[in-house]
Amino acid sequence: MVDNVGSESLSFTESVNHMADRAFEVLNIDPGVAAAIKACTATLEVHFPVNINGKIEVFTGWRSVHSSHRLPAKGGIRYATIVDQDEVEALAALMTYKCAIVDVPFGGSKGGLLIDPTKYSREDMQKITRRFARELIRKGFLSPATNVPAPDMGTGEREMAWIADTYKHLHPEDVNYSGCVTGKPVAHGGLRGRAEATGRGVVYVLREFFRNPDCVADTGFKGGLGGKRVVIQGLGNVGFHASKLLQEEDECLITGIIEKDGALVKEDGLDIQHIHDYIVEHKTILGYPDASHVSDGKSLLAMDCDILIPAAIEGQITADNAGAIKANLIVEAANGPVTFEADEILRQRGVTILPDAYVNAGGVTVSYFEWVRNLAHIRFGRMERRYDEMRGSHMLSALKSMTQQPIPEWIEKELVQGANELDLVRSGLDDTMRLSFQQIKAVLDSNDRVNDYRTASYVVAIDKISRSYLDIGVY
Ligand code: NAD
Repeated sequence: MVDNVGSESLSFTESVNHMADRAFEVLNIDPGVAAAIKACTATLEVHFPVNINGKIEVFTGWRSVHSSHRLPAKGGIRYATIVDQDEVEALAALMTYKCAIVDVPFGGSKGGLLIDPTKYSREDMQKITRRFARELIRKGFLSPATNVPAPDMGTGEREMAWIADTYKHLHPEDVNYSGCVTGKPVAHGGLRGRAEATGRGVVYVLREFFRNPDCVADTGFKGGLGGKRVVIQGLGNVGFHASKLLQEEDECLITGIIEKDGALVKEDGLDIQHIHDYIVEHKTILGYPDASHVSDGKSLLAMDCDILIPAAIEGQITADNAGAIKANLIVEAANGPVTFEADEILRQRGVTILPDAYVNAGGVTVSYFEWVRNLAHIRFGRMERRYDEMRGSHMLSALKSMTQQPIPEWIEKELVQGANELDLVRSGLDDTMRLSFQQIKAVLDSNDRVNDYRTASYVVAIDKISRSYLDIGVY
């Protein structure tokens, strides 16, 4: 099946399915089970009217449940002008594989609303979001037990707060109402560290990759992550947090940023925070003073660099430009940025790709933490923090009296400080991304039929999902 694929004619869903097919073949999965895993369980399409300044507008939205072998099904809600049913179903499928890769016990789902959010006021967005949420809730596509959305392109904490509030009003008897959506503001049941989680997760992936000398050598790199030249497409939620951390903590040089309205280039490194502040103020990168501008932003995907991080939208690296990519390593922070056809070309050229279903799973990982916290109704670390601090200070006193030596100040500080919630969230995220990398690497190292990270990631996912289908049985 993989061999018969034509060129550049695949839909997003077909592209995801073909990528998964490689793993089904490697694992020798029964075709019936493979078909069951790949099939999208249900997609709801809604059309609803909203009164905008005295004029009625009809909006179209989707919520797709790809799998419900684990519940709730989980996945973001996207607000964009490019949303359609195929996109939502492809993204829901990616969520199924993603959750399995990082051992998050959820099924896969995704939602989308066809809208340009920049064209509406805050009040209008609230009306539209609450109305969309009501449609999803009433039709059984949103609840803490069955289907839990999160932010994605064009949505954030604000929309999640409106959705949670709408659910609460419709279900005042549900004590777990705040778990109906993740990515909420901290004051409304959100979790510190969720907003940065996907971008931070991308960085944890890169750090783990560079901790493995054989992986680094296979990619043709020398040395560590520090000093590597990085090009990022999309300076939104994911791209901003990833590139800021890479610049500030890992000493990478962010030499190019590609946005909707062009690109910025600076060989000795762009200042991410400065550019982000500029975009927040001017709503564009145009006119940014401290970099060269390139009007055909997309052409910069082929710029000379070490690491390319597409963090905007799907379908950016296709059969048309895959041959021109110069980066040794592509890190898919966005969902589906490399098409199936481009993936084939890049693999033949020896370019290493760390795939979306693993790389951007930091978001759903911390969403899982948020959901667990909402159901537990208690902040992480609340019971043990002071107790840990007390034990730490007793250990410090014992250490001092036994050694009669001064203890370096930073060790003293670390010992007597109990972890706060953000420390715990980051630790859980780091642990998840590292363990998943090791699972993927173990498949690559042990299976001669697998020689790329994408197939290895799908093998990890499908092995777990198929076991869950077979354990329960299909009847
Ligand atoms: P966002 O809306 O915050 O940011 C997207 C950015 O990409 C914006 O700055 C936008 O201007 C830019 N952009 C859009 N179209 C572009 C184009 N054609 N060329 C260049 N830049 C373009 O969205 P986000 O939440 O950062 O999501 C980005 C990607 O990451 C999406 O594929 C999304 O599905 C994926 N993702 C997001 C999360 C999350 O937690 N937010 C989690 C997993 C995956």
